[in-house]
Amino acid sequence: MSIKTIGVIGAGSMGSGIAQVAACAGFQVILSDIQEDFLTRSLGFIGKSLEKLSSKGKLNDSVETIFNRFTTTTRLEDLKDADLVFEVIIENMEKKKELYKNIDQICKPEAIFCSNTSGLSITEMASATKRANRVIGTHFFNPVPLMELVEIIRGNDTSDETYMIAKDLCESFGKKSITVNEAPLFAVNRILAPMINEAIFVLQEGVATKEDIDLGMKLGANHPIGPLALADVIGLDVMLMVLETLYQETADSKYRPATLLKKLVRAGHYGRKTGRGFYEY
Ligand code: NAD
Repeated sequence: MSIKTIGVIGAGSMGSGIAQVAACAGFQVILSDIQEDFLTRSLGFIGKSLEKLSSKGKLNDSVETIFNRFTTTTRLEDLKDADLVFEVIIENMEKKKELYKNIDQICKPEAIFCSNTSGLSITEMASATKRANRVIGTHFFNPVPLMELVEIIRGNDTSDETYMIAKDLCESFGKKSITVNEAPLFAVNRILAPMINEAIFVLQEGVATKEDIDLGMKLGANHPIGPLALADVIGLDVMLMVLETLYQETADSKYRPATLLKKLVRAGHYGRKTGRGFYEY
């Protein structure tokens, strides 16, 4: 099966990035969202990013050529010609299942659906369709144009053909992939989230200051950014949600969120986006 036209549903931070890397790789992209102004905002982000990459000589085509590969829509029906659809809407299982049920009726029977979920069950989303063998997880990292990794997540019924198509496609965007069997939070965030949580416990217990924890992990473990500074970038609200999901899914106490994390979220200190988290911005 050859992929020519790619649908991207959800033109937020991740959807814009996925649409951009797909268009840069030469695909026609149908970008969809629920409101026209979200699409305008997304094209604005993409334009800025493309101009930056172009000025550094990092694009194979002109910004104009790449832009001409996009069409935008607020109507799901316009995705009927897509060979493959990236679902990049909010992280909510009910909303995602409703969308899968709708696009299952609109899209060609052979079209493949790829979810960018950070950790929800691919198998459960696929159950809302009549093509569970053609549903797979492709978990890109933020910001998509710069981060090289995609986790490819196989659901219970994902076929080998779907897996190969999704993997080859992501690699044609210039990404490297790792393969993960469905499990809560997949592989990378499953490792990353408890590490950040442990750093918060170390701070909460007074073992070291926040500055020393971050400096320690930068110099001692060769991480490019300390765990507390990273939590502020990700968003403490997102970190708490992720840890709570992991804790609920596994019922394993090793994933219980640190009380200090809960307290900061309750205070509305979500990190960089609110101007205060572990640090002030
Ligand atoms: P976002 O809030 O920036 O964007 C989501 C977009 O989806 C919004 O523009 C919204 O209007 C749109 N949307 C919502 N419901 C829709 C529907 N029914 N039909 C069409 N559009 C709809 O979110 P995001 O950060 O881009 O995250 C999207 C997905 O990617 C989530 O599943 C998230 O867990 C995952 N993800 C996020 C990150 C990250 O760092 N932000 C990283 C990896 C994966």
